[in-house]
Amino acid sequence: MQLTFYNSLTRRVEPLEPLVPGTVRMYTCGPTVYNYAHIGNFRAYMFEDLLRRTLEYAGLKVTHVMNLTDVDDKTIRGSREAGVPLRDYTATYKKAFFEDLDTLGIERATVYPAATDHVAEMIALIGKLFESGVAYQAPDKSVYFSVAKDPDYGKLAHLDRSGMRASVRISNDEYAKDDVGDFALWKAWDENDGDVKWDSPWGPGRPGWHIECSAMSTKYLGETFDIHTGGIDNLFPHHENEIAQAECATGKPFVKLWMHCAHLRVNGEKMSKSAGNFFTLRDLLAKGYTGREIRYVLLGGHYRQPLNFAFDALAAARTALARIDEFTVRMEALAAPAGGSGGAAPSPDGQAPSWPEKHLSAFAAALADDLNSPLAFAAVFALVNEGNRLAQAGSLDAAGAASALAALARMDTVLGVLARPAAAIPAEVQSLLDQRAAARQAKNWAESDRLRDAIAALGWTVKDTKDGQRLSKS
Ligand code: AMP
Ligand code: ZN
Repeated sequence: MQLTFYNSLTRRVEPLEPLVPGTVRMYTCGPTVYNYAHIGNFRAYMFEDLLRRTLEYAGLKVTHVMNLTDVDDKTIRGSREAGVPLRDYTATYKKAFFEDLDTLGIERATVYPAATDHVAEMIALIGKLFESGVAYQAPDKSVYFSVAKDPDYGKLAHLDRSGMRASVRISNDEYAKDDVGDFALWKAWDENDGDVKWDSPWGPGRPGWHIECSAMSTKYLGETFDIHTGGIDNLFPHHENEIAQAECATGKPFVKLWMHCAHLRVNGEKMSKSAGNFFTLRDLLAKGYTGREIRYVLLGGHYRQPLNFAFDALAAARTALARIDEFTVRMEALAAPAGGSGGAAPSPDGQAPSWPEKHLSAFAAALADDLNSPLAFAAVFALVNEGNRLAQAGSLDAAGAASALAALARMDTVLGVLARPAAAIPAEVQSLLDQRAAARQAKNWAESDRLRDAIAALGWTVKDTKDGQRLSKS
């Protein structure tokens, strides 16, 4: 499975060629933990989840690092307003972030380094930038990166550097820094920072936001790694600055493939805290939507296309997921006929159980083509439609149904929305189920049948499969 992705750096779709065959090292800009993330933020984390699961589907071993920005202007302001120490303030939102990831079925990264745990690495990196001659300390005591000293600056955003210089001459006087494009590596302490400060060779202060990602990505992934991701608004200046810092410090290429997702919008405008047009995940859960439905909506658009958020889309997700669930129930019933010994029965008329394979191939091809999730979902529904048609015509045997379920499960390793959520099993039913398992172990078939009837009287159906009892709501 050859994967191809759009590279923001080269502006071309390219085949993925991992630096170390069979593995991918990838870095993702994570949340600033000063508040609950909104679903626009989660669009970015969802795209990264899709990417990561696709890499794994293709058999690659992924090391995925996502930082947590737990010190910046917003976190400091929030903690001071709340009157709690910065660490306690951000701990609340870190916890909420992980709960939200779980609600949305987003897989955990390999490591989540927090900025405040890596200030020493950032100071060391800034030291290297002084050695390379691209860092300077300004009269305001803050340390800046000199964009003019880095001939490669602007290669990601494809900046017109001559245009940049012209704007510098106009506004130079207003800045403590030498050049308007220069950005802070180290911010000198001032009274707004309260007790948030670290010692450094340049005096007390705190790291700039950009240096955080260069320091932590190279620490965990090496000086050159495969993929760096984020929302499109991160491309400039944040990612441009990350490249400048890392490459000027190491002299090596920083990242091979840069991938960015387009924004989640509301009425054509980017969803953002500052515009006030946002919904947190919790807002939507409170309105009765599920994490699964929200996941379905966020995955439904191609990651490089803006996605408009609307409640209609959530309603459509509910209908689409119900259709998939009905299909699953139907296939399960066919794959393990009631009262049978269970397992996929051999095909009575030699029917090839592999018809789902072509849908699986279409699914994989869609993802391999720059994560085309709308086409991947089309392959899921093609599988559902064909399975329903065959079942309707009475020409689907147990093996065919089992292979449809297997294909669906395989697709779900990437999509993470297809599996039917398990209905909560009441304690009384669970107890009867346990007794029945014991009765069957003891080959007490009369007792087993009696317990099956007792379970049925409570509204549940139990079937015996080669993997044990399978329970569903009647
Ligand atoms: P922030 O906390 O603002 O740094 O954002 C965290 C992540 O969410 C970054 O990757 C942003 O690019 C991304 N992001 C913010 N707003 C949106 C949006 N409306 N749609 C998609 N991604 C977004
Ligand atoms: Zn970053």
